[in-house]
Amino acid sequence: MKKLEHIGIAVKNLEEANLIFARLLGKPHYKVEVVESEGVRTSFFKVGEIKIELLEAIRPDSPIAKFIEKRGEGIHHLAFEADSIEVKMKELRDQGFTLLSDTTKSGADHKDIVFLHPKTTQGVLVELCQEKK
Ligand code: ZN
Repeated sequence: MKKLEHIGIAVKNLEEANLIFARLLGKPHYKVEVVESEGVRTSFFKVGEIKIELLEAIRPDSPIAKFIEKRGEGIHHLAFEADSIEVKMKELRDQGFTLLSDTTKSGADHKDIVFLHPKTTQGVLVELCQEKK
C-alpha cells in the first residue's frame, strides 16, 4: 500500500458532524459529495496528509444506515491508496484476502474503490482506492 489515504466515519447527521469535526480540527470540511450508488452523502476534511471522510446514509438500505443500526456511529473503514488498484486486488486475493466485489466501483473524491471483507482483516473494513485516471 502506498499510504493511509483516509479514515471513514459513519455519522447520523452530516451537518451536525461537520460542525463538530470543524471545531475539533480547527478547519471546515472542503467538500460535500453524494455517491448515489453507495447511498451516501460524504464530506471531507484534510488533516496533514490524511483525510477524514464523514459518511451519512441517504437511504435506509445504504450500507452506512445498516452499519449505524448495528454498531452505532463511529469509525467505519480505513482506506489505503494503491499505485495500481487492479494489481493490488490480485495480490491480496492471492494472499487469501476476500474482496467484496470483483471489480472496482466509483467512490467519492475522484477515486476508484473496492472493499475487503472485514472477516479477513481482523474485523476492520478496509477500502482500497486509487485516483481515477
Ligand atoms: Zn472511503
